[in-house]
Amino acid sequence: MPELPEVELTRRRLELDLVGKRIERVEARIGKLRLPIPGELASTLPGRTIRAVGRRGKYLLFDCEAGWLIIHLGMTGFLRFLAAPAQPGKHDHLDICLDGGSLLRFHDPRRFGTVAWTTNAPAGHPLLAGIGPEPLTAAFDGEYLFRVSRFRRVAIKEFIMNGTMVAGVGNIYANEALFRAAVRPSRPASSLTLRECELLALAIREVLEESIDQGSTYRVAEESVAYHPLAFAVYGRGKERCARCNGTLEEIRLGNRSSVYCPRCQQ
Ligand SMILES: [Zn+2]
Repeated sequence: MPELPEVELTRRRLELDLVGKRIERVEARIGKLRLPIPGELASTLPGRTIRAVGRRGKYLLFDCEAGWLIIHLGMTGFLRFLAAPAQPGKHDHLDICLDGGSLLRFHDPRRFGTVAWTTNAPAGHPLLAGIGPEPLTAAFDGEYLFRVSRFRRVAIKEFIMNGTMVAGVGNIYANEALFRAAVRPSRPASSLTLRECELLALAIREVLEESIDQGSTYRVAEESVAYHPLAFAVYGRGKERCARCNGTLEEIRLGNRSSVYCPRCQQ
């Protein structure tokens, strides 16, 4: 599943390719992904210029003058810019054809992706309205995390993976950030001190930024969303040695997700 760094890298890549391009036509080959593909795209988008490519959480936002195209990659979605037309493959469900013959193609074998359209400010769209602060902005810091976690008994790992608390922190980065902050994933959210919240907010920002930085020099493979440039300290490493103390990493289930931590380093 694409995590926030992959979505941000997709945004940066597409921004270079798409901004300033004029849309000539829209070809949707199926009627629905997770939600129906809006029918008005075919009539509204032609003649419009793509002005910007933004991101909110794991949603990509394409400013198309008349409104915003909102795309979520779901589990297996992949957006590719093609400089010249090419025959669509089996899972190439949507093409946004651009002037000069180039196109933006949405490929999604499992069809859990989302394509939506809004003529209002996208922040208020039902898909986006409940998303918490962006982890890479000043709106997300230790004081915020401390304040919203008071009286919350849910495990801190599940808490930071709740998109209404902070946008787009998936399982991989939650595991890594908790290790870096030396906080055990099963701790009740309310038990964290302000200092621990500061360390955790910083760790979340660091693991995401490092992943984005490393990925910016990495060419995302065609039709591949399996992109994880960080060398993981704990994720997927249950029963292996802790790189910090040489103890044994433990794996538990929290909210039905695998959680790996070091019992010595994370309290
Ligand atoms: Zn350790």
